[in-house]
Amino acid sequence: MLLTCRRGPGARGSCDLGSCDRLQDHQEAAGIVFEDTASALFGVEGLRVTDVQAGPGGALEVWAVTDYPAAAACPDCGTVSCRVHETVLARPRDVRRAADPVDLRWVKVRRKCGNRHCPRKTFTEWVPQLPPRCRITARLREQAAHEVTGRGITPAEAARHAGVSWPVVHDAFAATADPLLEQPIASVAHLGIDEHRRGRARFEADPQTGEYILLADRWHTCFFDLDGQQGLLGQVQGRTADDAAYWLAGATPAWRDAVQVVAIDMCTIYASAARRMLPHATVTVDLFHVVQLAVKTVGDVRRRVVRARHGRRGRSGDSEYGIKGLLVRNLEHLSAAQFAKIIDTLDENRYGQEIAAAWIAKEKLRDALNLRARVTGSTPCERNVRGRLSAFYDWCAQHDDIPELLTLARTISRWEDEIVAAVLTGVTNVWASYCAFRWC
Ligand SMILES: [Zn+2]
Repeated sequence: MLLTCRRGPGARGSCDLGSCDRLQDHQEAAGIVFEDTASALFGVEGLRVTDVQAGPGGALEVWAVTDYPAAAACPDCGTVSCRVHETVLARPRDVRRAADPVDLRWVKVRRKCGNRHCPRKTFTEWVPQLPPRCRITARLREQAAHEVTGRGITPAEAARHAGVSWPVVHDAFAATADPLLEQPIASVAHLGIDEHRRGRARFEADPQTGEYILLADRWHTCFFDLDGQQGLLGQVQGRTADDAAYWLAGATPAWRDAVQVVAIDMCTIYASAARRMLPHATVTVDLFHVVQLAVKTVGDVRRRVVRARHGRRGRSGDSEYGIKGLLVRNLEHLSAAQFAKIIDTLDENRYGQEIAAAWIAKEKLRDALNLRARVTGSTPCERNVRGRLSAFYDWCAQHDDIPELLTLARTISRWEDEIVAAVLTGVTNVWASYCAFRWC
């Protein structure tokens, strides 16, 4: 760093500030005092850094004293006191410096209140970041809460990183989240409804009848904003149609009228709630679950066929067992060698051909789902989607000796309108869209 030295006859022109023998003059000219610089870098209002040392394990030991005029005033009567009762050393938790922890050692004074009529005899100093009886800086709490709200990690993980307890982080998170929750929900065009398992169910015995009463359901119903920035809109206990309808009934009629599409799992309960409370909205199902059902069907056929052929469960060494991982992959993601391995294995006998029929059915169903705009890049046509679904039904009908395929075809047929709507609108639940990237 080069500064122009203006003081002293031997310091004209530019000089290196670090090696200049008039360093003190430079500091005064620039208004710099090293102690204040350290305090400014530390950044806790009201604390003046007196010493910094390297602690064990990469920690930084920071010694500080109080430099906050209001700290000398009694919190009860406001009398400013200069009478020192004792000096105490506090070690509050603070934010890390880069990845290393900071060991803050705050030498603070316990003062005697000068007002004879004040009930408080002594009081200790405080600063805005560390109010009385507080051992964690406010900025550490805020940082931990931001880790949860901003990065989406759990309070437990944020607590481990901050070196504080779970309740501390949870309280900080709640303090940040509560003001947001009190704001009214903006209108939503695409609404997602999904179930979520949380904690354990709790029961209590009825003292009159002795029967157990459910106090807390482990299953919750969640509502998401799928096209906006609002994320999770609400969460209610239980996963019945009434539970979902109860939350929807709490919204204003204008808000319900604004919902155009509702995305759900292949679940009749939520479909019933959506049709009851949002009769004008289009119901779609998550395509991830549709593909997941088809993949499960292929696995069911493979397990039944292997048991019929060998009289036992499949195991390493069986030809069908060797391709079970390949059968769940998308056709377009198979290499030529992997595709040839499937064909060679399934072409060996009639058992393999049954598995092949189920595998082809899965791919025919995916053909219909892959007409959505995210895959093709163009707006899908309803007639094409229904045409490909018809090809899927035809294939299942040609192999009506495979009971699992008939069950799959019946299920898809029952949800056909919702599946077609999902392909046409492209609306899917947020978490499902990530999974669909892998499976669909
Ligand atoms: Zn007082």
